[in-house]
Amino acid sequence: MDDESPAPTSYAVDRVGQVSPASRPGKPRTLWWGATRRCPRCGSGNLFRGWFTIADSCPRCGLRFEREEGYWVGAMAINIGATLFVFFAVFAVALALTIPDVPIWLLAIVVPITVVVPVLFYPFSKTIWMAVDRAVLQRLDPNERLDELHRGRNTA
Ligand SMILES: [Zn+2]
Repeated sequence: MDDESPAPTSYAVDRVGQVSPASRPGKPRTLWWGATRRCPRCGSGNLFRGWFTIADSCPRCGLRFEREEGYWVGAMAINIGATLFVFFAVFAVALALTIPDVPIWLLAIVVPITVVVPVLFYPFSKTIWMAVDRAVLQRLDPNERLDELHRGRNTA
């Protein structure tokens, strides 16, 4: 079966997954891709098997997602931050609406947020973290660009 598709014009990737600097997507696009669970380098979707399991690398451009051991701690931090934000936002609104007679059952609504939001947000936290890493953090460090150039079919 021949499923060669025409190369997208928004980026250029060679055999070993190198992206030429001129074709690298800008910050807003990279972050948007992250927010929509897509590859931060080429924008490809379908990165997850099920809700929780991310592929080792991008099916289109070959970007290796877990750049180093402990890499996903950043995603965890983003997930915790998002959960706290939603928790306090909902709590504040609920308090504002019910004060001074705050009902105790309010907790039954607010507390599950700390369980539900991390689960729902989990895949987004990973792609957002990768996008932030690529769009912001790696650009701050010239050595990281070198790392990008030597990436590709690496094994570990
Ligand atoms: Zn990709």
